[in-house]
This record gives sequence, C-alpha cells and structure tokens, in this order.
Amino acid sequence: MGTPSGLLDLQAIDTAIDRLDARKRALEGEGELAAARGQAELAERELGELRLAIDTFDRDGAKLEHEIDSLTRKAADEESRLYGGAVANARELGSIQHEVDNLKKRRSEREDELLVVLERREDVERRAKEAEERATELRSAVDHVAGNATRELESVGAELVTRREERARLASGIDPELFELYEDLRPQKKGVAAVALIDGVCQGCHEKLSSVELDRVKRTEGIARCEYCRRILVL
Ligand SMILES: [Zn+2]
Repeated sequence: MGTPSGLLDLQAIDTAIDRLDARKRALEGEGELAAARGQAELAERELGELRLAIDTFDRDGAKLEHEIDSLTRKAADEESRLYGGAVANARELGSIQHEVDNLKKRRSEREDELLVVLERREDVERRAKEAEERATELRSAVDHVAGNATRELESVGAELVTRREERARLASGIDPELFELYEDLRPQKKGVAAVALIDGVCQGCHEKLSSVELDRVKRTEGIARCEYCRRILVL
C-alpha cells in the first residue's frame, strides 16, 4: 500500500505556510522598517545638532559684531576729543591717545575672533547641508519601505488564506492515523514530517537506507518511516 503521495503535497503546502507565517511575523515586527526609521532619526538628530551649532555661531558672531561697533564708536569719540582742540594738556592728550590705541587693539582682536567664528559657521553649514540631504533621502527610504511592507503584508495575508483552504481540502483526504502522526512529527522535525524516498535515499536526512530496510519499506502495508530520522517516507 505505502503512503499516499497526497501527504507530500500537504507537506509542500505546510512548508509554504510556515515560510509565509515567518515573513508575516517579520513584516509585522517591522524589522526593515524599524532599521530604516532608526537611520533616518539618527540623520535628523545629527542635522538638529548642526543647526544648534549654527545658531550658537550666529549668536557669538552677533555679539562680536556688536562689540566691534561699540569699540569703533568709542575710538571715534576719543579721537574727536584728541583732535577737537578742547583738550590742550599734553599728559591728558597722551592718555587719550593711549586709550584710542587700546580700543583699536581690542577691536582688532574681536575682528580676528569674528573671522574664526564665520569660518567655523561656514564649515558647519556645509555639513548641515549634507546632513539635510541624507536625512531627506533616508526619510523617503522609510516611506518606501513602509509602503512596500504594507503591500507585501496584504499579499502574504491573501496567500495564507488560499494556502490554508488548500491545506484543509488536502488534509481531509488523508487517513486520520497518518495525519495525526504527521502533525505530531512536524514540530519535532523542523516542520518537515513527510519526505520522498528517491533512489533509496531519504530526502529528509539524506541517508541511504540499507537494502534490507529498503526492501522492508517497499513491502510494508503500514506507514513507512526513515530508519535514521524517523520521518514518514513517501515512495
Ligand atoms: Zn531520514
């Protein structure tokens, strides 16, 4: 009698269902989507930090410009006192001159500082522009992955329904005792309980049956099992 080949069809469907279930879990777990979101968020965070740095440079720059203006005004006031003619005392004039020199020296220092700030700002702005492009790309990749995941989830769901209907139809045509054994074995055998025997080789464990065993399997009236992995053999 041997084992009906319908069992192999059932096994093929169950293997397909297992694969679809795993894919469904992966899609629902949003593995790829979470990874894409993580990357996009990282790029956005980096962009945010660079923008904060630009703001700081702007504030520092504005403060320095304000100081430079103020020092320029003070120096001009002192110079007008120096040349205005109202002060004639040589010592006082000397002290005003000293003050003018001091103010101009401080202004020159501030101008150097401002230059450094502007250079750094330019560098950070360039990096921010790159980060912005990267963030935009990654965000659109997230949308793409999300769209794909939704579509794939729908098609996986539909295929699962079809396959399960097919399975129920096939299962009803299989001997209950055989079906029970098949169901018991499947979880123990990584989902594969029924395999073909081809040229005396079990397609589950790929061991070659001994000639005595092969002969016995071929003659058996009951359920044939592999002597090595105990899977159900279909001749
Ligand atoms: Zn085997």
